[in-house]
Amino acid sequence: MPEGDTIHRLARRLVPALVGRPIARLWVRDRGEVPALCGATVIAVEAVGKHLLVGIGDAHVLHTHLGMPGRVRRTGGAAFPTWDTSAIVATPEGAVVWRSARTAVLCRRDDPAFVRALQRVGPDLLAPEVDLGDVVRRAHASSDGARPLVDVLLDQSIAAGIGNVFKSEVLFACGLAPTRALASVDPTQLRDAYALARAMLQQGVRDGHRDTVHVVDPGRLRAPGDQLWVYDRSRLPCRRCGAAIVRVALGVDRRGTYLCPVCQRDVA
Ligand SMILES: [Zn+2]
Repeated sequence: MPEGDTIHRLARRLVPALVGRPIARLWVRDRGEVPALCGATVIAVEAVGKHLLVGIGDAHVLHTHLGMPGRVRRTGGAAFPTWDTSAIVATPEGAVVWRSARTAVLCRRDDPAFVRALQRVGPDLLAPEVDLGDVVRRAHASSDGARPLVDVLLDQSIAAGIGNVFKSEVLFACGLAPTRALASVDPTQLRDAYALARAMLQQGVRDGHRDTVHVVDPGRLRAPGDQLWVYDRSRLPCRRCGAAIVRVALGVDRRGTYLCPVCQRDVA
């Protein structure tokens, strides 16, 4: 699943292609061609957590969420729907095509289902201002204290933006075992973990690539391209202690989680 930095970068790339331009063609998976909105102006492209929203005219929004396999591609020419097309927004200059998106729905801005979907999204860690105290309160209010951190960090209703990569990176950098129960983590430590996730997401948006090692330890020497602490580093030596990094399927969705069994011993 793309992380928040990917969606924010994508929104930034799509703004010059779409915003202020008239729609020449709109095709959406759940309703096909939408001729009624041809000629309407795209007024905004924005990321809200991992949701990507395209504002069309005064009243409509194309609500998309890429999910795991979803992709977005810009093309300078015409685009036509195929079996995996989720949406097409074409202007006179080109088209933006969503494929295999988990969500691609055209709705009115005041549509209750759309409003509810966005209300379920917690504070976006990439927003200019984030109340991390509120994020910690949301975490504790979201479930009983036995919930493991690996699930807490991925819960987009607590804070939006952290995906599978940053989940592993943040937990390693904070020395927290992914299976550690929420209640056993000091609120200050949890707040620090979200602050670090925010810094990692911001670096990803700012630089166009992820370098979590630099975020935590800017002076560290490493090989070019060697930019993550643990993610996708199974069996390679931990950058802190040398122990072999392991990948374990953890959490409610059994997503792959990378960790150092020494640096992230569950000590609680
Ligand atoms: Zn280690």
